[in-house]
Amino acid sequence: MYPAPFEYYTPTTMGEALALLAQNSDAKILAGGHSLIPLMKLRLAQPAALIDLAKISDLRGIHDMGDYIAIGALTTHHEVEYSALLRNACPLLPEVASHIGDRQVRNRGTIGGSLAHADPSADYPAAMLALGATVQAQGSGGKRGINADDLFTGLFSTALNGNEILTAVHVPKTDAKGSGVAYAKFPHPASRYAVAGVAVWVKLGNDQVSDIRIGVTGAADHAQRATKAEAALKGKPMNEDNVAAAAKLASDGLATLGDMFASSEYRAHLVQAMTLDALNEAHHRAHGWH
Ligand SMILES: Cc1cc2nc3c(=O)[nH]c(=O)nc-3n(C[C@H](O)[C@H](O)[C@H](O)COP(=O)(O)OP(=O)(O)OC[C@H]3O[C@@H](n4cnc5c(N)ncnc54)[C@H](O)[C@@H]3O)c2cc1C
Repeated sequence: MYPAPFEYYTPTTMGEALALLAQNSDAKILAGGHSLIPLMKLRLAQPAALIDLAKISDLRGIHDMGDYIAIGALTTHHEVEYSALLRNACPLLPEVASHIGDRQVRNRGTIGGSLAHADPSADYPAAMLALGATVQAQGSGGKRGINADDLFTGLFSTALNGNEILTAVHVPKTDAKGSGVAYAKFPHPASRYAVAGVAVWVKLGNDQVSDIRIGVTGAADHAQRATKAEAALKGKPMNEDNVAAAAKLASDGLATLGDMFASSEYRAHLVQAMTLDALNEAHHRAHGWH
C-alpha cells in the first residue's frame, strides 16, 4: 500500500520545526516512522505534511545531568538498550528497551516517538510510570515538563498539545543501595507488543518497602499505575505473602481490554502474574542478590 501524497520537511533546528508545525495545521511529526508510516500506508493516517526531526541534532543523546539522566527524543530503542550510563544508573530502561519488537524496530524506533504515540501495548510507558519520569515538551507557547503520571490520557492519547514536540525524557537515577527495578512482560507472539507488561521500582529501608511505583501497560486503553498494589506493600517487608497479596491487587481499578488475542479476564490475570514476577525480581535486585 502507498500512503496518500504529503509534503515532506526536514528542519535542522527546533525553531524551524515549531514554525513548520504552526504553518501546517494538518502536519505530523516524523521520528523513527515505525508507527506512523504503517498507519499512513494503511491510510489510517493521511497527514498533509511530515516534519521529519531526524536532522535536529539537539534531540539526540543520553546525558548525565547529575541527579537525573536526560534522554533526547530521537534516541533509538537500541541506543537506550546499550547505553552504559543507563545500564549503570537507570537499568530499567535498557531492560525494557530490549523487550521492544525486533532488532529492526529497535534500530529505528525512538523513545520520543513511542511516548508521543502512546500505543496501549507499548513497553516504555510502564517504565516511565514506575520511574516517575518527566517528559519535556516544546511548543509555540514555550517549554514545559509533563509528569509521566499525567502524560497518558487514553487510547493513543497524551497530554501533549498538537503544536508541541516532545524533546526529551528526564529519568531519575535508581542505583542507590536498597533500590531495585524490574520489568516483566507477556509479549504478543507475533508483534512482540505487550499483552501485559509491568515495571517496578522499589526502595527498601530496614528491610521494609519505603517507596514503590508500579507501572502497567498492555492491559487497558492506556498505561497506568497499580496504586492499590503499591499501597499494599508500602511500609511492609517484601515477604512472600505480602508480595503475593499486592500482586493480586495490581489489576484492581484497571478497565482491562478484551480482544481476539486475550479476554479482559485473561489480561487481568496476566497483570497479576507479571506484577508478581516483577516484584520478586526487583526485590532480589534491591538486595543485590543478582
Ligand atoms: C513490527 C513492529 C513491532 C513493534 N513492537 C513493539 C513492542 O514490542 N513494544 C513497543 O513498545 N513498541 C513496539 N513497536 C513500536 C515501535 O517501538 C515504534 O518505534 C514506536 O512506537 C514509535 O516510535 P517512532 O520513533 O517509530 O515514531 P513515529 O512512527 O515516527 O511516530 C509515532 C507518532 O508519534 C509522533 N511523534 C514522534 N516523535 C514525536 C516527538 N518527538 N514529539 C511529538 N510527537 C512525536 C508522530 O507524529 C506519530 O504520531 C513495534 C513496531 C513495529 C513496526
